[in-house]
Amino acid sequence: MINLLNYNQPQLADYFASIGEKPFRAKQLMRWMHHFGVHDFALMTDIAKTLREKLALETEITLPDVQLEQVSNDGTRKWLIGADTTNSIETVFIPEDDRGTLCISSQVGCALACTFCSTGAQGFNRNLSVAEIIGQLAIANQSLRQEAGYDLLPAGERIISNVVMMGMGEPLANYDNVVTAMQIMLDDSAYGLSRRRVTLSTSGLVPAMDKLKEDCPVALAVSLHAPNDALRDVIVPINKKYPLKELMAACNRYLEKAPRDFVTFEYVMLDGVNDTAEHAHQLLEVVKNVSCKFNLIPFNPFPNSGYETSKTSHIRVFRDILMQAGYVVTVRKTRGEDIDAACGQLAGKVLDKTKRTANRIPIEAI
Ligand code: SAH
Ligand code: SF4
Repeated sequence: MINLLNYNQPQLADYFASIGEKPFRAKQLMRWMHHFGVHDFALMTDIAKTLREKLALETEITLPDVQLEQVSNDGTRKWLIGADTTNSIETVFIPEDDRGTLCISSQVGCALACTFCSTGAQGFNRNLSVAEIIGQLAIANQSLRQEAGYDLLPAGERIISNVVMMGMGEPLANYDNVVTAMQIMLDDSAYGLSRRRVTLSTSGLVPAMDKLKEDCPVALAVSLHAPNDALRDVIVPINKKYPLKELMAACNRYLEKAPRDFVTFEYVMLDGVNDTAEHAHQLLEVVKNVSCKFNLIPFNPFPNSGYETSKTSHIRVFRDILMQAGYVVTVRKTRGEDIDAACGQLAGKVLDKTKRTANRIPIEAI
């Protein structure tokens, strides 16, 4: 059975052409599936009955299963979503006064093994399909709209105004499926989000960054976390393949096509590891030719990580050094900690360890 949630609009048009139907059907179906969240062909009233019956025979519109939905004291929500019988991934919604941000996962686990990340500590099982990626947006949207009461929402009001590809996994290591899913997010017949409101976070896969700027330029966040190659080689091991100088050059190339005129550098604050004044000065030197903002992320602990969160006073000193150099710096507020929904705490369940070891991709191959 073909799951139609795996297709963007051009792919859906190709599918309709292949069964002898007019390509414009693709637009109708995108609206039903993604804009209205209708997954039952029988309810798609502007599509001829014979075609609806044919679709129901050959295809399906199937979302992944929700295994658990949790709500934090601060309103943050987390969904545990089944990827298959043994594995699951997590999706997090963060409500703020002026926006609602959905943090979406791209892989079951992650092969890049950054030392401070609980997803990385779990190893890698597999890539998520397009249906599983866009399905997270559909599930969250459905649940939040239901909670708010459909009738109470003004027409066109979005609860989810922003998407960040910052959940489990390295989105650029699942390039094709992530790009197709983002194209659906941006498609006016589907979710119609603006490029500026979809942010992809990467640990720095340089060739894929170059490809993304051509295929689907969205806002970019880069996980920097260290101000020199010696330290970054250890805590973000992909740095051995794409060191800082190459990464900074890739950021500048990306900015030629990006919807925003800056890159956001994420920097996790690890006590005594990367958080001294000296590190801040080194960081300024590294980024000096790139238009950027900084997002400092106090480290969120998880069992046996071996790291501690930087002291608030050290984060302040670090931030002030960057600000005095003229940069915009935000310190990320920890949200949803009581339900393990904060950055780097997403673990889902990556249970199939044999498979996980077998599937573990050596960095050289990424
Ligand atoms: N793989 C991508 C996106 C997912 S991680 C990336 O690395 O960019 C989203 C952000 O959370 C990244 O900046 C990541 O480095 C950060 N992060 C990972 N573990 C963390 C932890 N324990 N505490 C705080 N931030 C963490
Ligand atoms: Fe993977 Fe990102 Fe975690 Fe690194 S920080 S292990 S790239 S999810």
